[in-house]
Amino acid sequence: MIDISKLTISATHNHLISGDFSAKDLAEACLKEIEKHNSRLFAYLEVFDDVFLQAEESQKILEKKRTDAPLLAGIPIATKDNILIKGHIASCGSRILEHYRAVYDAFAVTRLREAGAVFLGRTNMDEFAMGSSTENSAFGVTKNPYDESRVAGGSSGGSAVAVAMNGALGALGSETGGSVRQPAAFCGLVGLKPTYGAVSRSGLVAMASSFDQIGPLAKTVDDVRILFEGISAHDKKDSTSRVSNARITPRKNHQEALSVGVLRLTDEGGLDAGILKNYRQSIQTIKDAGYKVTEIEIPLMKYVLSVYYIIMPAEVSSNLARFDGVRYGFFKEGADILGDYSNTRGFGFGDEARRRILLGTYVLSSGYYDAYYNKARVVQKMIKESVHKLFGQFDVLALPTVPEPAFKIGEKTNDPLRMYLSDIFTTLANVAGIPALSVPSGNVSVDGVFLPTGIQFVGSEWSEDTLFSIGETFERQIKKTEV
Ligand code: GLN
Repeated sequence: MIDISKLTISATHNHLISGDFSAKDLAEACLKEIEKHNSRLFAYLEVFDDVFLQAEESQKILEKKRTDAPLLAGIPIATKDNILIKGHIASCGSRILEHYRAVYDAFAVTRLREAGAVFLGRTNMDEFAMGSSTENSAFGVTKNPYDESRVAGGSSGGSAVAVAMNGALGALGSETGGSVRQPAAFCGLVGLKPTYGAVSRSGLVAMASSFDQIGPLAKTVDDVRILFEGISAHDKKDSTSRVSNARITPRKNHQEALSVGVLRLTDEGGLDAGILKNYRQSIQTIKDAGYKVTEIEIPLMKYVLSVYYIIMPAEVSSNLARFDGVRYGFFKEGADILGDYSNTRGFGFGDEARRRILLGTYVLSSGYYDAYYNKARVVQKMIKESVHKLFGQFDVLALPTVPEPAFKIGEKTNDPLRMYLSDIFTTLANVAGIPALSVPSGNVSVDGVFLPTGIQFVGSEWSEDTLFSIGETFERQIKKTEV
């Protein structure tokens, strides 16, 4: 019997090439876990019916190439429902695309397919990736496996839970403002938001195009690195895709040389006490690992969330204009063409999507464009510049991933502004276009339950390898203290 919980991607690769088990055995083991947990946790919206066929194809690659087989050959992967897989539904957690079938593969999917990965199914998400809890899905709420009365985080909550419940070895989510890192932190996983442009957006349904990136989730930093390497490449179909040979090699002896700027947080800042305690322990862990640690302020940090929540809905309002009942999916007839349009969008979109379309239309309207959208763009530029300056002094920044552990289902659904505050630490990387890696940093005890949380390492553009390096050291150090 294969115990998925004990397997990393590289260990699995070795088992597969030495024939300890086949790609089909592995897929079967994942499907069993999914069968055991999915009806309670609702990570997957759909499990594909061709999983064994895919596994057989992967097995051929493994047998033909043996030790030269790609690391991802035969590895079972879950994908968020806004990432296109040809022939399969991609609903984006929305009624409006409930029956929409993708007509091509996303670039990231093509890359993984070529490497022989096995796609298990599509995972639940906040509608069009708008949310921090996976409560905004039109199809139901994904639950946190550590406490089922709590949220999984969002918007890639389904992808996170798919891995956390051992129903996949890794998953793809998408990031616009923290949607990979936040559920990773809530579910005890590692999650990466890549440098903007490092992963093609071709085949990722757009939310806010200037921020969107596909990002991997897995149990370990090494697994996330393998997935990132699998999906990151230049794609001429995406004009914002950039060459990955720009990646910065981490310095040798990095432990001595790397300087880490850790965000100064105080008891008065309103942060959850358990998170603050965990964060302070994490800083100690970073110091114990030999890094040079300096407490810092991140200039303009207090404006980051506001900038995000102006630019993001502006882009949402224009990206979602295409869902008009004519070109894609759901259609509800009205008395005239305007009626068709408002019925289709009124019934097809949920509350949060409609809220953001309205907000975005407002900040882009001629009377308010300068006051909101333009101003936000100016402040975004200032944020980028000041963060860039910080990377002249520090190799990496560290800050908590989330301001609190997983919250109760329903707790924030009637208070969108409180929900938006969940993104207070994550949006910096998206607004600045830089990479950020969330790594599990232990637990916070709430009502007698241990809930996982995470710390984020943020670097300059193309510094993913540096983030993996500090992330792995941190991961090792944490394991040592747990033993
Ligand atoms: N929680 C953020 C939002 O609601 C981020 C979403 C995302 O990264 N897709 O916009």
